[in-house]
Formats: sequence, structure tokens, C-alpha cells
Amino acid sequence: MSRECQPCTGCCDGWVRMEVYGHEVAPGKPCRFSTGAGCAIYEERPADPCKNFICGWRMEDSPYPEWMRPDRAKVLIIPGVRAWQGRPVDLAVPVGRRIPGRALDWLKRYATEQARPLIYTEQVLTPEGYAVDQQAIGYGPPDFQEEIRRLAETGAKLW
Ligand code: SF4
Ligand code: SF4
Repeated sequence: MSRECQPCTGCCDGWVRMEVYGHEVAPGKPCRFSTGAGCAIYEERPADPCKNFICGWRMEDSPYPEWMRPDRAKVLIIPGVRAWQGRPVDLAVPVGRRIPGRALDWLKRYATEQARPLIYTEQVLTPEGYAVDQQAIGYGPPDFQEEIRRLAETGAKLW
């Protein structure tokens, strides 16, 4: 693989909820092993969720540009999370509350050019803090957008 995770901590800093060695990772609660500039236990990190997860930026033959490293561009991409009318659908999750405009514009252009519908999410902030579920938005053909809106309303699993 041509790209390495270190020093990225895009998926370690709490914007993706998970558990690492029994410790909760959630917004405001980064993984206790994240230094903010890498993983303090990189060689000993658990297989699940750490070693087994490879984001779109890091994957072999990644189409995502260098500047879109998740901790820098503030977006984590997971390609092909589902299919829609025979096309792969990509998922983009913010590393933060929302995906910054430059990255989201790039992803929308890519979705259009490659005919790969996109689901992107935003963190939902409530008076009690960040909600467990993020808001999911569909980008692509109108029928796709409508389907994602409908599925999101019913609480269906989108990926
Ligand atoms: S977001 Fe991607 S590059 Fe960054 S640590 Fe996670 S898997 Fe590695
Ligand atoms: S153990 Fe390391 S790779 Fe896994 S989430 Fe924590 S900082 Fe990231």
C-alpha cells in the first residue's frame, strides 16, 4: 500500500463511534491511544476496529488526492458501502461536525463524474451533546436522494 495511516488519526479522534480495548471512543472522547499525531500503540492496535479498517484515502489505488488525508481534509471516506441500481455508493463522514466545503465539493464532483452516488453525514448537536446517530444526506440522481431521505427518516441502516 503506498499510503500509511501514521500520522493521520482521522478515524481515532472520536467522530466515528467505536470501542478500543474496552474504552469508548465518541465525539469529545478520542481514543486514549491517539496522540493527535498518530497511534501510540500502532503495532499493538487491535484488529477490530483498527487494523481491519482501511479508509478510501489509504486504500490501494485510491482515487482521492493527497490533500484529502482524513485528518487534514476533515473527511473520512468509505467507498462502496452499498449499491444503488447497480452502482457503488460511497460514504463520507466528517472528522468534526461537518465536512468542509472544499472536500465536499470535490466529493460531489467525483460522484457526478464517476456516476457513484454519495451519502454524506453531519453530526447532530443537541443540548445534551452530539447525538448517537448522524444525519445522512444523499447526493446523486433525484431518485437516489429521495430514497436516502426516506430510509434515513425510518431509521433504516444505510451502510
Ligand atoms: S482515517 Fe484512514 S488514513 Fe487516517 S488513520 Fe484512519 S484508516 Fe488510517
Ligand atoms: S488504537 Fe490506535 S489506531 Fe486504534 S483507534 Fe486508537 S489511536 Fe487509532
